[in-house]
Amino acid sequence: MKKDTRKFIHLRNEMVKNQIKARGLIDVDVISAMSKVPRHCFVSEALMDQAYKDFPLPIGYQQTISQPLIVAEMTKALELNRNDRVLEIGTGSGYQAAIIAAIAFKVYTIERIQALFMRTRKLFDELKYHNIVTKYSDGTLGWKEQSPFDAIIVTAGAPEIPSLLVDQLAFGGRLVIPVGDRVSQTLIKIYKDETGIYETDLGDCRFVNLIGEQGWDE
Ligand code: SAM
Repeated sequence: MKKDTRKFIHLRNEMVKNQIKARGLIDVDVISAMSKVPRHCFVSEALMDQAYKDFPLPIGYQQTISQPLIVAEMTKALELNRNDRVLEIGTGSGYQAAIIAAIAFKVYTIERIQALFMRTRKLFDELKYHNIVTKYSDGTLGWKEQSPFDAIIVTAGAPEIPSLLVDQLAFGGRLVIPVGDRVSQTLIKIYKDETGIYETDLGDCRFVNLIGEQGWDE
């Protein structure tokens, strides 16, 4: 059973102060979610003491839990509202989904590695994240039956923006996705409304590959 303790609460507060606020990321909802969600519960027992450090960590199957700052930046870029329904591609450890679930109404998250999908589904139940719905599938195709989404976040690097994800974004919706080559990417934010699609460049980043029909080959 994964538990929060005074030690981890202290490490988490230090993380928020030194890695998030100190770098100028001031967003009440994001700060509150990062202060609340027990990041150490989303990594293996052996890595728990490192969970609040300023870097990504391995979660098995050659995948990673992203650095706290990038989680905060991507969440802020989503401009979440209380009633939003959000799609995440790349469930991984479940941490990013848990952060969004602490702010928005409902999170739909898709993972393509079955073992990770099963492990994280169990963790969401254990930690009582009742507003996170999971699916084992190729997320580059989105989740048409549940669309349109108010926000979509892709937590793996894509060669280009999957068109089906843009299609499944509501008017007024935001999509945040790393786009580039297999090694490094640019974080792109898309805003969609009735008049068209507007793209903003949020800076450089490095993610594992988005693998699938509208992503990279395995
Ligand atoms: N959001 C995760 C977290 O908080 O731990 C980040 C995990 S990792 C950086 C990216 C994840 O995307 C991996 O678990 C990987 O298996 C998954 N992934 C890659 N391509 C995918 C696809 N087409 N559909 C769904 N998940 C995919």
